[in-house]
Amino acid sequence: MTSPSTPLPSHVRVLVVGAGFGGLATAIRLQESGERDFLVVERGDDVGGTWRDNTYPGAACDVPSQLYSYSFAPNPEWSRSFSPQPEIQAYIQEVADQSGTLDRFRFRTNVDELRWDEAAHRWEVRTSAGTLTADVVVSAAGALSDPKSPDIPGFDSFQGEVFHSARWNHDYDLTGKRVAVIGTGASAIQIVPEIAPKVGRLDVYQRTAPWVIPRNDRDYTEVEKRAFHRLPGVQRLYRTAIYWGREMYVPAFTKVPKLAWPAKQLALLNIRRGISDPELRRKVTPDYRIGCKRILISNTWYPALDRDNVDLVTDGIKELTPSGIVTKDGTEREVDAVIVATGFHTTDLPIAEQIVGRGGVRLSDHFAEHGMQAYKGTTVNGFPNLFFVVGPNTGLGHSSMIFMIESQTAYVADAVRKMKQRAVASLEPKADAQRRFVDDLQDRMQQTVWSAGGCASWYLDSHGRNVTLWPRATFTFRRQLAAFDPDAYELVSRDQVRVEAPQAADLEPQEVGA
Ligand SMILES: Cc1cc2nc3c(=O)[nH]c(=O)nc-3n(C[C@H](O)[C@H](O)[C@H](O)COP(=O)(O)OP(=O)(O)OC[C@H]3O[C@@H](n4cnc5c(N)ncnc54)[C@H](O)[C@@H]3O)c2cc1C
Repeated sequence: MTSPSTPLPSHVRVLVVGAGFGGLATAIRLQESGERDFLVVERGDDVGGTWRDNTYPGAACDVPSQLYSYSFAPNPEWSRSFSPQPEIQAYIQEVADQSGTLDRFRFRTNVDELRWDEAAHRWEVRTSAGTLTADVVVSAAGALSDPKSPDIPGFDSFQGEVFHSARWNHDYDLTGKRVAVIGTGASAIQIVPEIAPKVGRLDVYQRTAPWVIPRNDRDYTEVEKRAFHRLPGVQRLYRTAIYWGREMYVPAFTKVPKLAWPAKQLALLNIRRGISDPELRRKVTPDYRIGCKRILISNTWYPALDRDNVDLVTDGIKELTPSGIVTKDGTEREVDAVIVATGFHTTDLPIAEQIVGRGGVRLSDHFAEHGMQAYKGTTVNGFPNLFFVVGPNTGLGHSSMIFMIESQTAYVADAVRKMKQRAVASLEPKADAQRRFVDDLQDRMQQTVWSAGGCASWYLDSHGRNVTLWPRATFTFRRQLAAFDPDAYELVSRDQVRVEAPQAADLEPQEVGA
């Protein structure tokens, strides 16, 4: 790993923001495609992103590891179907170590601003470690990277311990304490069963009940692991079977809701098996269509809620006081610690606030006006030479994000290669190409369970538009991004830039970070 004091170069051809699964895959792809002049900047002190930050008890993936891993770096040593966070983090570190790209990573370096320089056709980049310029920027800053705290009156007045699930305080001992967990999403349902046996009392605050199906989890046997080592084809077969098994869910989400009936029955069975109290069963049974919010998987969530020292509170939070939480019915429950498991900024993509494109337009303002959108989830008209890995509408409700990441990094690497080959100084998607793509996507979205399933979710923006998920099969996404498609782009050649340069020099110079 490079030292934080290694100075930044003054210019790179490609700057990658973020060193999670997305940023690392981008670096590896660029290197493979022959591009050496790139730099990855990361605000944290290691690779891993999500898996570096989410260290809460019980943290694990909910897509089987055989699929939730890079296709180019199979790991025969996964201990179980749904690997725990430390194993996933160790895997990312190992892939990074072996990739031969780490000398181009700069950790503890936050990107504060990316500003498009219209005269020079490149990005002016201001970071916590200095400034530089870049011809191309790839934002792999994560869609579930910035924790979101709930907007509850009195939140800051609470005098006890408070932390977000993605910033777990391991120095705070929960043993015997009175603890509140706010939220019943993917993180909460992993945390609650882990901490319930050790805390004194646990109040779980639920706004909307999730649908939770059984977790088909098991240890891999030594025989399986040996087979994965010696016969890589066996592991590929596992991966392929899991991939297609997951892809079968797509029609249930997007077109034929009836196909979700078996999943609903499994979820109802999960409730009956895990909870004996009829009133609690009623409280945990969702009143919207399965799939509308992310379907969660757990065998331990319902039994944990059924414990004597755990209360599921559904009355709605009114406020926090210095010593506890008051619900809308006026009850105050005193607690020593509040664990916030309310997810992340998803529909507002925090990095967009740092990006200023053509005409001085800030991407966050552009998204606020037009909705968060991108051509193929990757490029945005008005923001030249900017690519997203895990951009708008690339999220999944059913399968591995790494599949989407690899599709996008292939597209980006191809674009970067073609720019060099054809001496392109800058490119951005044509407005009509982007409009057609987004209109088609939003048309398809209307019939999905995410839009029509009768729930509010973090998939939807404040206008009810789904700006986070991909509404088709993942292989369709892969096909659409198989090769960079210059016809859909406005291209400016290096020669044009040279001709325009004298006029550009007359423009007022833009100060970096101004
Ligand atoms: C608890 C949890 C469990 C999950 N489980 C699954 C799963 O089972 N299956 C699945 O498919 N997906 C899962 N996901 C989604 C997961 O986020 C993606 O699968 C994947 O890890 C995203 O990788 P990424 O590189 O796009 O983003 P991230 O891993 O979030 O990495 C982004 C990186 O960018 C850095 N960064 C952000 N802004 C800046 C800045 N301004 N300057 C410098 N650096 C910056 C961040 O520090 C971070 O390291 C899960 C997410 C969470 C939170």
